Amino acid sequence: MFDDARSKRVIVVAHCLLNQCAISDGTADFPSQFREIVELLLEHQIGIIQLPCPELLCLGLERQDARGASRPLLQENSRIRNLMDSEQPRNVLQQKAEELASHLSDYQRHGFVVLGLLGVDRSPSCGVDTTSIGGKEMPGKGVFIEVIEKTLARHGVGLCMIGTKTGEKERSVERVKRFLAERFEGPSPSKSSV
Ligand code: SF4
Repeated sequence: MFDDARSKRVIVVAHCLLNQCAISDGTADFPSQFREIVELLLEHQIGIIQLPCPELLCLGLERQDARGASRPLLQENSRIRNLMDSEQPRNVLQQKAEELASHLSDYQRHGFVVLGLLGVDRSPSCGVDTTSIGGKEMPGKGVFIEVIEKTLARHGVGLCMIGTKTGEKERSVERVKRFLAERFEGPSPSKSSV
């Protein structure tokens, strides 16, 4: 099956890397996409699975406070994290994580390569290496990534994850390049793998 033009390679990508319009007020670094990362994925002929933006889904574009952009960034991020880290949003995220697990299992069952997940560090929801807690950028995962990690592990789906930062363009592009090179040429999965 699927012996056609498709590359049979996919990657999971945080929503705002492809759509900066979803990001919280005052934090977009690009007009639309993180172009350099998208171009890398296109060059490598990788199918892009765009995650939903968990904060848009649960809190809306204003993140439940139209004055959010007037706060210091990490303080605002931490406020958002507190809202996301509660029962109702977690239930919504759990449902999205279950859908993702089902789709990734299906891809893997059919011999597709699921290359990994690109998150957004410092994000209250999509951070992989760092998130925002208590007004600081701290090591740890965003709420959505936490839910995804646990859900995929329960479904037996292994997924390497790395964080990017739209505000650190060169470093993020280099990181994604290395990540892809490892996946295309070996060797080991990153320590963030499930
Ligand atoms: S980092 Fe996650 S929650 Fe924040 S805008 Fe991007 S997709 Fe949405």
